[in-house]
Amino acid sequence: MADDTGIEGLIDLMARLPGLGPRSARRAVLVLLKKRGQLMAPLAQALAEVALTAKDCQTCGNIGTSDICAICADPRRATGEICVVEDVADLWAMERGQVFKGRYHVLGGTLSALDAVGPDELGIPRLVARVADEATREVILALNATVDGQTTAHYIADALAPTGVQITTLAQGVPIGGELDYLDDGTIGAALRARRKL
Ligand SMILES: [Zn+2]
Repeated sequence: MADDTGIEGLIDLMARLPGLGPRSARRAVLVLLKKRGQLMAPLAQALAEVALTAKDCQTCGNIGTSDICAICADPRRATGEICVVEDVADLWAMERGQVFKGRYHVLGGTLSALDAVGPDELGIPRLVARVADEATREVILALNATVDGQTTAHYIADALAPTGVQITTLAQGVPIGGELDYLDDGTIGAALRARRKL
């Protein structure tokens, strides 16, 4: 135990980060304390800076440091395609794939009556407006294969129907190299329903 309340407070904050329990938070803080000059000071400065400048993109909901994010501001990404994702983490995953060249719409969650999350909270009216404003040809619904994700996908498809835009979803099924044994039933079911001729 660190018997310094300042250091204990730092450990408590670090322990709230995903993947860091109290034990790893303690280890991380100890490394920071030992590398105050090379690591802790630059980290503190970067955190303070980004905490002040980080904001949600007014167009797509991505997180950046200006009102319009770098993807929305890039004219080369005006491809007429909008990919709808649940979370910024999904946007980052799509970007890592380096395949999609269009723009995004980040919902920030899924429809949930239980948590009082409705279409407005997810920016669905804004998405419908964007489809007209940006001369969108295709909306790709890249939502998770959960019940909430699929319910939300159907709601969005209905909301977009009057615009006449083409709506597609990601193919779901067995990941490349995946073993059926390790898949959950929903994934296997989806893979079976989407089966094609060999
Ligand atoms: Zn954006």
